Amino acid sequence: MTSTVPTHTQSSEALPLIGGSATGSTDPTGVTSDVFDPATGLVTKRLAHTSAEGVDALVAAARLAWRSGWRDSTQKQRFALVMRLRELLLERRADLIELIVSENGKSSADAGGEFDRALDGLDSVLSFPVALQGSYSAQVASGVDTHSVIHPLGVVTTITPFNFPLMIPLWDAVAALVCGNAVIHKPSPRVPSAAILLAELIGQAGAPEGVYTVAHGDAATVDALLDHPGIAAASFVGSTPVARHVYQRGTHAGKRVQAMGGAKNHVVVMPDCDLEFTADSLVSGAFGSSGQRCMAVTIAVAVGDVADSLREAIAARIPALHVGPGREPGCDMGPVVSRESQARIVALVDQGEREGVEVVVDGRPLAQQLAGFFVGPTLLDRVTPHTAVYDEEIFGPVLGILRVDSLRSAIDLIDANPYGNGASIFTSDGGAAHTFSREVETGMLGVNVPVPVPVNSFSTGGWKASVFGAHGLLGPEAFRFYSRQKQITTRWPDSGSQSMGMAFKPAT
Ligand code: NAD
Repeated sequence: MTSTVPTHTQSSEALPLIGGSATGSTDPTGVTSDVFDPATGLVTKRLAHTSAEGVDALVAAARLAWRSGWRDSTQKQRFALVMRLRELLLERRADLIELIVSENGKSSADAGGEFDRALDGLDSVLSFPVALQGSYSAQVASGVDTHSVIHPLGVVTTITPFNFPLMIPLWDAVAALVCGNAVIHKPSPRVPSAAILLAELIGQAGAPEGVYTVAHGDAATVDALLDHPGIAAASFVGSTPVARHVYQRGTHAGKRVQAMGGAKNHVVVMPDCDLEFTADSLVSGAFGSSGQRCMAVTIAVAVGDVADSLREAIAARIPALHVGPGREPGCDMGPVVSRESQARIVALVDQGEREGVEVVVDGRPLAQQLAGFFVGPTLLDRVTPHTAVYDEEIFGPVLGILRVDSLRSAIDLIDANPYGNGASIFTSDGGAAHTFSREVETGMLGVNVPVPVPVNSFSTGGWKASVFGAHGLLGPEAFRFYSRQKQITTRWPDSGSQSMGMAFKPAT
């Protein structure tokens, strides 16, 4: 590919304006942002943001829809919606994949994988009647029973990141809807189109008007949602500083909030691992989605004398990765999402180098060579704590090797890290794997698995600075998040039972 770094974007007059009233955002203030194709670096659309007044209108519509029927919808109706949505998503699979590739930049195969994982999540809610089952205690006192029933919360908001434009919104949507809530989704302004199509499909699947809408924008729109008294709960996925802000502001406004944050995922490589398998796993775990996954492998913790052979095995694999526009056949790795991300990743590697980190494979030159927001796969060695590439979440295709002398040092290192999303170990020693799984303080752990995201009947979520508030995406935690219990205690005196000689007589 030739050197074609663009110096200009298309004329904004020629661009389609998306968002606004088409998705229920009734009062766009005139604030817009550009949507880019990361593979070309060109602006392709303009997005109309939703103002505080627009948020107010969405909440009013959602509350009306909820109170006038959706909260009393039957499980059968909610099930039917999810099943119909599944069909519609499959019909529009190619369109959704194209929207993801064109705004996020990931490869078509990767976007297809996102679609499949999104659908797996939808399938997992089919167990929801059990999750929404209450409980009953009979005869807690003489003639007194207590039972609990599960209720929806009301209007909830979901605020999602750029890196899974369909999967995370869909997971949140189905969990919230099957619990009987009305939802206002706020997607990332960098990848809004899949969310718009998803909302249309949810409407076509049978959601009454106002039950699922989209608010567009960035910080100002999020704050308007968090401050709004008509919204009962906020579910957020994104970076740690924003997760902390959303948690604090949302709970201050009296909302239930779960806020999933960023990550720094360590993979411990023991000397007794299967080296070829481990290197393959690390390359796919680190460079898949250009490292823009909250579960991406970012630090390989090489224990003992495995470091040199590990470094060699990973470096040998990198040239075989096909980096290019996500639509290109055989593409392994597309661009990163934005010019800002590209510049940030390059700057962090620059800083790492100044701090003594060794650049084994350098992906920075690609940023100058290709149009679009590319950074090549980058391998670093001799990373240490307190270097920028260790301390910061890079969220790009950069894998660092950090050398330690023992499993104990590796576990202590991971536990000292503020993040706690994912961690894995590659080993053939069951004892080492057991100690690792028991001791490491992260929410998702893997043994000989690079990206240990659980199947969707389990909840997905991290620990420490990777989450604020309890709960998790999908699974039982999501049902608990999106519902609340009512405990009902009843006494029904049965005067007839006295005459039938059934009255309780305490022993004397
Ligand atoms: P981000 O934090 O920049 O944005 C996430 C959402 O918050 C977007 O909808 C955005 O519009 C909004 N937002 C941005 N700045 C805001 C502010 N100041 N106030 C209020 N709202 C604001 O994250 P991103 O760049 O879109 O996504 C990447 C991040 O998401 C990474 O840190 C990644 O680790 C994290 N992530 C975490 C998980 C998880 O399960 N823990 C999953 C996916 C992504």
